[in-house]
Amino acid sequence: MSASQPTSHLLEIAIPAPLRKTFQYLPTEGCEALKPGCRIRVPFGKQKLIGIFLGFSTRPTIDEVRMKHIIEIIDQEPVLSDRLLQLCHWATDYYHHPIGDVLSNALPVSLRKGAPAQEPNLNLTITDTGKAFDPADIGRAPRQRALLQALQLKSALNKDDLRDLDIKSPVIAALVKKNLVAWQIREPDAKRSVDVIRSYDQIEPSNQQQDAINLIDQPGTYLLHGITGSGKTEVYLRAIEEVLRKNEQALVLVPEIGLTPQTLSRFTQRFTVPIETIHSGLTNRERLKAWQNAAEGKAQIVIGTRSAIFTPLPNLGLLVVDEEHDGSFKQQEGFRYSARDLAVMRGQLEKIPVILGSATPALESLHNCNLGKYKLIKLPERSAGARRETYQLLNLRNKELKSGLSPELIVQIRDELEKGNQVLVFINRRGFAPVLFCQECQWIAKCDRCDARLTLHLERRFLMCHHCGVQLRVPNKCGECHSGQFIPLGAGTQRVEETLSSIYPTYPIYRIDRDSTLSKGSLENLVNRIQEGQPAILVGTQMLAKGHHFAGVTLVAMLEIDAGFFSSDYKAMERTGQLILQVGGRAGREARQGKVMLQTQFADQPILQQLIRDGYSAFAETILAERKLNDLPPFTYQCLFRAESTQRNSAMDFLEEVSAKLPPEPSVEMLGPIPQTMEKRAGRFRAQLLFSSRSRSLLHRLVKEGVAVAQASKRSNRIRWSLDIDPVDLV
Ligand SMILES: [Zn+2]
Ligand SMILES: [Zn+2]
Repeated sequence: MSASQPTSHLLEIAIPAPLRKTFQYLPTEGCEALKPGCRIRVPFGKQKLIGIFLGFSTRPTIDEVRMKHIIEIIDQEPVLSDRLLQLCHWATDYYHHPIGDVLSNALPVSLRKGAPAQEPNLNLTITDTGKAFDPADIGRAPRQRALLQALQLKSALNKDDLRDLDIKSPVIAALVKKNLVAWQIREPDAKRSVDVIRSYDQIEPSNQQQDAINLIDQPGTYLLHGITGSGKTEVYLRAIEEVLRKNEQALVLVPEIGLTPQTLSRFTQRFTVPIETIHSGLTNRERLKAWQNAAEGKAQIVIGTRSAIFTPLPNLGLLVVDEEHDGSFKQQEGFRYSARDLAVMRGQLEKIPVILGSATPALESLHNCNLGKYKLIKLPERSAGARRETYQLLNLRNKELKSGLSPELIVQIRDELEKGNQVLVFINRRGFAPVLFCQECQWIAKCDRCDARLTLHLERRFLMCHHCGVQLRVPNKCGECHSGQFIPLGAGTQRVEETLSSIYPTYPIYRIDRDSTLSKGSLENLVNRIQEGQPAILVGTQMLAKGHHFAGVTLVAMLEIDAGFFSSDYKAMERTGQLILQVGGRAGREARQGKVMLQTQFADQPILQQLIRDGYSAFAETILAERKLNDLPPFTYQCLFRAESTQRNSAMDFLEEVSAKLPPEPSVEMLGPIPQTMEKRAGRFRAQLLFSSRSRSLLHRLVKEGVAVAQASKRSNRIRWSLDIDPVDLV
């Protein structure tokens, strides 16, 4: 058939391979009615792969004699709707990423592997034309005739029935094409409740909440800047309620560790409708089920982390991105997309409202408000009469610390405990001590595979590299001078916990970090014990700052906030400000006013004083003004080429080649290549080349050429390279 097939029926297919192009195949029977977004099994080299059909093509890109036929059509109905395909096409261009991999990212793993997408919720039904059609007129197609007769007897068949009748998909497709039969989604089994609301947890929204709800009335992007405790969630819930009453669906994106049972229960207590959650903890099977329920419209609310942005929702009416400033919305490997930015784009394609919510919005989001692209809605007050927390800087200059705790802080903590309150001690470093040091010869324990020090973990007496995960036993003798005079320098959560329990032996201390919450349910247990409200000290990393609400905490102590002043990353100060307010926002809620004490060497820095005196908006405007002055994002656009290799100079050589072969473009600045700040990581040497420009289009044009140069380079098979558009981590 291949020779006689008209060229207009070439199939354009995206293959999950690291190639920035699509592939053409010859059709088989049943391809005429194929819709874009359906999965197709195809031969690819010596493999059989599952690709996504994108459309028909008239222009062969290779000699048709060399083209292969597809093996099998997997779907009758697309697994990616037109709008999701549009979103994926946009992401492919914007992130300069291989389309096959973009589409693959958009699907649950089971579907990538070929699992049926609709089963068992689709019925094949007979159309009115089909009912009146004489099977004898089908012609020389006995299988089609058999199927039509079966459906004339029994007006609907599910996939199991079809399998029993041994009806193959080309036969069905032929009858669908003739409009004699049609696929129909089976009616949802569950009866819908009369009302979408189960109960309200407060009678009426406050005035500022009601104003916010009223403003979100049409398609567009809304930045909801509400301080911690101002009731952003209530605004989401009311906006979602509107959508549910129209029988539409809502998608809520939350950060990686923000999807706590507490978050979920706000939704389940409020709404009667089916809710699905999508996150990395699901099995492939659970994930597929959630995907199917969303795709079939059964789930009316989907709450999920980053990758949930690709959930099919045929009646999507609202998109919410909670904690929109959070770094976990950016995927940091492979397809490096920003789920928040894709949410804004999806909202535009679907013509629906998108709410980006945060107590500390990202500067680029505030900038988009200043430009008029997003509408800014503020919730400046805490709800229910609660007073806002107060901030105090503790100057550490010339102070003697006890495992990172200053004398003032030790007194303050005791004071709060004796009043029956809880205290949260924040330090963003797990383990016992970040440095193991030999007193005799100043030797420091370092990782062989990374340019990094090893962190001492005391519980199991081992050294760990937090960059590559390697674990070593603590040596008995110094590797250099063979003495045994080690001392741990600096403090991590474990050491702070130990010190606190020696100072306040009668109070319970709960440590919350990645190590203490490894086993399933352990975080839940800790949180439940804390919420009983007895006086206690909570020690933890930023895990503590996300999604949890501790009503008994009246004092938050942040032991170290100075990293932002030392970092060469231009985003470091923005992150410091966000972290201070996010962690500080845990202090006091409801009746008790909270206090936040910040230990710092930089108590006299105006930017820090402005943050705690005037709040986040003023702080953000100051940093934005600095960024503008220095030609930094969001006033410029950036793209980062990264390369890594086991050989010391290969990554640098490769990026040198890319930069040397590019045509001069005065509007795009190229910085580097330079070795990364931590050049060696997990045994690989890493380098980067940064592109920066005020013109997004000129930047992207040059990046596209850079990709072509990189792909053509003979060096490219000896190194790993990647591209990061709008990078969030520059060092
Ligand atoms: Zn030594
Ligand atoms: Zn390492």
